[in-house]
Amino acid sequence: MTREMEAARGWVRDCTSLCVLTGAGVSAESGVPTFRGPEGLWRQRDPMSLATPEAFAEDPKEVWEWYQWRRQRIRGCAPNPGHAALAAVEAAKPDFLLVTQNVDGLHLAAGSRRVAEIHGSIWRVRCAGCGAEREERSDFAELPPRCAACGGLLRPGVVWFGEMLPREPSDAAMEMLTRCEVLIVAGTSAVVAPASGYAAVAKRRGARVIEVNPDETPVSGICDATFRGRSGEILPVLLG
Ligand code: NAD
Ligand code: ZN
Repeated sequence: MTREMEAARGWVRDCTSLCVLTGAGVSAESGVPTFRGPEGLWRQRDPMSLATPEAFAEDPKEVWEWYQWRRQRIRGCAPNPGHAALAAVEAAKPDFLLVTQNVDGLHLAAGSRRVAEIHGSIWRVRCAGCGAEREERSDFAELPPRCAACGGLLRPGVVWFGEMLPREPSDAAMEMLTRCEVLIVAGTSAVVAPASGYAAVAKRRGARVIEVNPDETPVSGICDATFRGRSGEILPVLLG
């Protein structure tokens, strides 16, 4: 074990207030494609152009076909050892919050409970007409699906590019960033706002910031420790 890993393990072990920010990379080893990898493409389309309110307004059927494809794909994915390590460390910490940009539900499936899903969940649907929201795990027979109550278009319960984050989880994330002693940033390219700014918020108040990512990111420079590798391999060591 490197000295950097020994030091980082010590910060995690000794803190009482731990925050973790995760992104698509944490689910990559479970088989969920990230947006920025080559695997993210669907019918040669860039996900960044599909996950927008504009795309949905223009062609809700196509956007839903893409979500249905992602839902089917994620349904066959199981949590990996990185998810499991995060669920286990939660039990040892009086103050803990897992802030995730992932919409796949794999943290909850792994047993994490104090989770802020700041980008929503692919397993939720919301009516664009009356606003009613519910969990829906099965496929829809007809796309785009419609609301049984008002006939409006149903949309995936996720946050699209250019949309505001849901109030409750994003407030919880912000509060945690103002008090955590350690922040772990794992599997996120850290280019999507506002999560991209979370590390700087914690760092400014003196929290230790640890990054887990195979690649360098815009937040790497302010981290107290960086581990270049897969989260499914590194998180069990860091948190073990
Ligand atoms: P991203 O696709 O922009 O970046 C993924 C990051 O993970 C990259 O920095 C990459 O180097 C890193 N990575 C790849 N494999 C890894 C591994 N095995 N271990 C650790 N890191 C690894 O993802 P993002 O930063 O989460 O932002 C993209 C947006 O897309 C988010 O808003 C998110 O809601 C959405 N999204 C979610 C999922 C999901 O729910 N699983 C999947 C794709 C996109
Ligand atoms: Zn409705």
